[in-house]
Amino acid sequence: VVGDTRIDREVHSVCPFCGVGCQLTFKIRDDKILYAEGRDGPANEERLCIKGRFGFDYIHNPERLTTPLIRKEGIAKDDVATLDPANPLTHFREASWEEALELAANGLIQVRETKGGNALAGFGSAKGSNEEAYLFQKLVRTGFGTNNVDHCTRLCHASSVAALLETVGSGAVSAPFNEAENAEVIMVIGSNPTINHPVAATFFKNAVKKGAKLIIIDPRGQSLSRHATYMLQEKPGTDVALLNSMMHVIVKEGLTDKDYIKNHTENFAELKAHLDGFSPEAMEKVTGIDPDLIRDVAREFATAKSSIIFWGMGISQHVHGTDNSRCLISLSLMTGQVGRPGTGLHPLRGQNNVQGASDVALIPMFLPDYQSVEDPVIRERFEKFWNADIDPNKGLTVVEITEAVHKGTINGMYIMGENPAMSDPNVSHAREALSLLDHLVVQDLFLTETAAYADVVLPASAWPEKDGTVTNTNRQVQMGRAAVPMPGDARQDLWIIQEMAKRLGLDWNYGHVKEVFTEMTQVMGSIKGISWDRLENADAVIYPCESPEDPGQPLIFTENFPTKNGLGKFVPASLISPDETPDQDFPTVLTTGRLLEHWHTGSMTRRSEVLDAVEPEPIVHMAPGMMENLEILPGDLVTVSSRRGQLDIKVRADGGVQNGMIFIPFCYAEAAANLLTNDALDPFGKIAEVKFCAVKVEKKKMP
Ligand code: SF4
Repeated sequence: VVGDTRIDREVHSVCPFCGVGCQLTFKIRDDKILYAEGRDGPANEERLCIKGRFGFDYIHNPERLTTPLIRKEGIAKDDVATLDPANPLTHFREASWEEALELAANGLIQVRETKGGNALAGFGSAKGSNEEAYLFQKLVRTGFGTNNVDHCTRLCHASSVAALLETVGSGAVSAPFNEAENAEVIMVIGSNPTINHPVAATFFKNAVKKGAKLIIIDPRGQSLSRHATYMLQEKPGTDVALLNSMMHVIVKEGLTDKDYIKNHTENFAELKAHLDGFSPEAMEKVTGIDPDLIRDVAREFATAKSSIIFWGMGISQHVHGTDNSRCLISLSLMTGQVGRPGTGLHPLRGQNNVQGASDVALIPMFLPDYQSVEDPVIRERFEKFWNADIDPNKGLTVVEITEAVHKGTINGMYIMGENPAMSDPNVSHAREALSLLDHLVVQDLFLTETAAYADVVLPASAWPEKDGTVTNTNRQVQMGRAAVPMPGDARQDLWIIQEMAKRLGLDWNYGHVKEVFTEMTQVMGSIKGISWDRLENADAVIYPCESPEDPGQPLIFTENFPTKNGLGKFVPASLISPDETPDQDFPTVLTTGRLLEHWHTGSMTRRSEVLDAVEPEPIVHMAPGMMENLEILPGDLVTVSSRRGQLDIKVRADGGVQNGMIFIPFCYAEAAANLLTNDALDPFGKIAEVKFCAVKVEKKKMP
């Protein structure tokens, strides 16, 4: 609002919600953010969605933690049912920072000294800055003495990254999503960008207006299909069958890019032989898609001058998530649709900094820039630089850590800004694990469902309260700036991590956050050319960026791939059924996801007045036909149960959901979708199959 007299200052920063990474300006009065406006950032060109525009009042919510808390003696860890996040003093007592930090660190030290570093683990956050993520993983590796460090990427694109690293040698996107505007064909698969990446979706719509053809493939209908030339609503969990049959058509009809295959790839002969049995006719029963439609879509994709693929959790969150991504990569490689304007592979990253947190190694198998922790040469280089030993074995992932706690081999955890008591699959099992820990330290804004199990709770800073960088889905490293002060005695996360590090015996002395960023540029070749001052001026620089003069490279794989021989590799994928298929007892497929208004586990957006007013209560989305069969009306209560749990929830009619399938958003603590989901893992990415499990739906029996 030009000349708005309600505000007394404004601060340029970045939206804290999704991986699009919209640049914005906070409009502030009396140290309160009144609203935000979109800036002309490379990812948003002044646009914002409802969350970016109206979702900031969570930071001023009265439930914000403003002082450290210590569990009261005699209050059992699993005594969470009576705990009210607005009134934590029934279970916790307030403490000074000194007392809380001593207790927090000493509990971890005790585990380390009695059981060894590998009895500890840390979950960092994709909602913090790159600098916080970098220091957190460094603390776990050099202070705890373990590589057991992970974050929500494990529930996000871990399988996509596994496939990308295996085939094309780089886990990040090959082109920004804005390249959709240079594409003749845009394929969106297993993704609902209008809901999950709303501003990116506007670029797709613009591209269609300019003449691009949009192909959407998803078991759930979505509003973006109104702009699509093709909408393929396949049976859930059948992406490998569908993509293999598309590739079968491309090979049989001679539509491959033979020069590209010859000069840039390997292993095509093996893939070609593998595809023989995947004709669209043979796969029709599996996918439910008309073979002619598959042929049309395959021809469009292969023969366009430029085709680009976007995918989301519908691809990655399966036991065959890595196979799904392998197929997408093969499809791009065999048609030469990569490395040129308007082409590429783009797994749309979820959280605002999940790309950055992964880049800086908040993951158990890699050191910064995806350098293997198991490689002795790389490890030695980091040991010298960090002046500390690093465990030679890769660590455990999110769900594996839960299992290790149940087995008694992990006994202490430090969790910064993650909420596994809501986000983990089969969440009762995950919650039980939290209650079994000898020592749990949680650092967060609110008394989250996870903090309820903590021994020590450390009140942290919200994104609009801190300086730091984040990296969006496009690989754009962007500058965030503190806009308002922290409430009460809450502290900067960077300060808290350092205080913990000191007590764990590390001699760190970072002053300004830019000192951490500078250290990152010394160990990460991808951002070597980006300095703090450069970012202060430019606000965003895309990586790879090799020198101060390098403008950064939006398109990668233009010449070759960052693999050992420079070639992209075809990896065939076979049909693997979901881990748990519907049967007589549990005949319906449950899939989970987000709503436009609510972010992830809801810890922020459920405390945002505007956003929670729009979507205030848990709802199960169901096909009208299925409702009719069950004699259910919109608003009726149903009981949904799986082999792992059950919940009561209101019904919403949704014509986009197939019969025999339901959708439940996972942001509502009062009906947590993850009570039902399956924790079976993809063997490569170690991601859980939260997009598919078998459930039973019954009309709620009233007493
Ligand atoms: Fe924020 Fe994502 Fe919305 Fe942009 S699209 S305003 S980054 S939530």
